Amino acid sequence: MPKKFKNIDTNLIHAGEIEQAVHGAVVLPIFQSAMYEYNGEGSGYSDIKYIRLSNSPNHQALHQKLAVLENTEAALVTASGMAAISTALLSVLKAGDHLLAQDCLYGGTYDFVTKDLGGFGISYDFIDADDPASWQAKLRPNTKAIYVESLTNPLLQVCDLPAVVRFAKAHGLVSLIDNTFTSPFNFRPCEHGFDLSLHSATKSLNGHSDIVAGAIAGRADVLEKCKSLASHFGASLDPHAAFLLHRGIKTLALRMRYQNDSTLKIAQFMAQHPAVAQVNYPGLASHPQHARAKELFAGCGGVFSFELKAGVEAAKRFIEKVRLPMVAPSLGGVESLVTRPVLTSHSGMSPEQRAKAGVSDGLVRLSVGIEATEDLIDDFAQALA
Ligand code: PLP
Repeated sequence: MPKKFKNIDTNLIHAGEIEQAVHGAVVLPIFQSAMYEYNGEGSGYSDIKYIRLSNSPNHQALHQKLAVLENTEAALVTASGMAAISTALLSVLKAGDHLLAQDCLYGGTYDFVTKDLGGFGISYDFIDADDPASWQAKLRPNTKAIYVESLTNPLLQVCDLPAVVRFAKAHGLVSLIDNTFTSPFNFRPCEHGFDLSLHSATKSLNGHSDIVAGAIAGRADVLEKCKSLASHFGASLDPHAAFLLHRGIKTLALRMRYQNDSTLKIAQFMAQHPAVAQVNYPGLASHPQHARAKELFAGCGGVFSFELKAGVEAAKRFIEKVRLPMVAPSLGGVESLVTRPVLTSHSGMSPEQRAKAGVSDGLVRLSVGIEATEDLIDDFAQALA
């Protein structure tokens, strides 16, 4: 059993750490060894220690830490967030099965569901995840799983997550949630009954924009399948990236607390600015799902999106004029980043699909880092002026 403490701040540092420090090293070293001595003990292939089987000391420590952080049975790290998502979905679905998925998804997930699942003989229907009354009509005898995001990318919607869990339990579905935008600091889905919580660990979990990684946490029986499938896909995380992820995770609470607070202040500034038409951030009282976010989340995270009254051209000018954030996709790092999802995360969708999902060409997404809030607000004020 990994060490487990009352507060997430302590778990981030101590949970899952190995009992015996290696040569007294305070930090778990990188075990940069593809394979390990094996004398035939254990029950089979999965007991052979080999990086592709995700069982090096670096993997094991992260698996234990993440399971504690998500307050669930087991966890697995993967080579990317998309590796976590595709591995998890293909672990719970097989040919002939049907998936219900939220209609506004991260672009890569949307592409995987719409372009790849069919090739595996798996069908899907999109649901309005905020309208539980409409889900029954989409349910089929072969529906096996339901997939949502804790905070949607890029519109920051908070769907009826408790209803998703109730619906899944009532119909024997496996419930999966992409918890990237909230992180286990702000939300722990398995405490609310979700079977699997997924991450792009590239984002807040690592927090330093220097690796690509993913994670799956949840029911131990499903995690066993995920681990086996990930080993066949070769989707395991490299030990060096595992080391960096391990290091990044330790400051998650400090970063998230700051980003929750700073992002709210910046979103409030933007919302009252005369050039701004709409700000999407559930921490704002004006957000349609503000009450739900307050009830479920410890904070609303470091990302918000907005539209300017003067439309696409004004959005382009804003992005040209900002000095602090770099113009780049991705999010959850210590540095602020700005992007238009139409050009990055959601460029794989057709204009019609984007219009249906509510992602306009003028939508700007901002990932707030840990710079001084005042400096960011000053920068946005000059860019808007
Ligand atoms: N899920 C969400 C919400 C994301 O924003 C992303 C990437 O932007 C992913 C999953 C995919 O993660 P990765 O790029 O680590 O594969």
